[in-house]
Amino acid sequence: MTRCYIGLGSNLADPAGQLRSALDRMAEIPDTALCGCSSFYASAPIGPGEQPDYVNAVACLETALDAESLLDALQAIENQHGRERTLRWGARTLDLDILLFGNDQIASQRLSVPHPRMAERNFVLEPLAELAPALIMPDGTPLPQLLAQCPANRLHRL
Ligand code: ATP
Ligand code: CA
Ligand code: CA
Repeated sequence: MTRCYIGLGSNLADPAGQLRSALDRMAEIPDTALCGCSSFYASAPIGPGEQPDYVNAVACLETALDAESLLDALQAIENQHGRERTLRWGARTLDLDILLFGNDQIASQRLSVPHPRMAERNFVLEPLAELAPALIMPDGTPLPQLLAQCPANRLHRL
């Protein structure tokens, strides 16, 4: 089994409800167990134009799937939640990113793991630190060091 961390985000159509529903669906992914979820956080949007604030969280999964199969399952859940892919970083009902997949480092057409932008996102690092405060990244960097270097964007725990 591989321990992975998934970043959840929504800023449309009852964001907290979207996250709760996504967690229920993630618990039903075959050969996979949902082993925890952080608090929910409100964060300032990073995308283009005027957008509502986001609700973010990080969940922990234990899975026997390979990373691409897990991505398939997560994208199916995004689609079930009405995710539309228009503008890059545009507003969305549900975004599920694979932050970490065990200690794997993946660079394929569909997947970059660890998530290449997580180090600059306090809305990812803060909830991740709630679940795994002493986590070491696959390249050996301790999570507390990433947190200390991360830009302080508006974020509060709900
Ligand atoms: P960002 O990646 O900056 O958070 P985003 O989440 O808005 O942006 P999406 O439009 O949701 O980006 O995803 C675009 C593509 O990113 C997906 O189709 C997927 O193939 C690819 N991708 C690469 N690495 C990952 C990852 N670690 N987790 C999820 N998707 C990934
Ligand atoms: Ca994302
Ligand atoms: Ca995504």
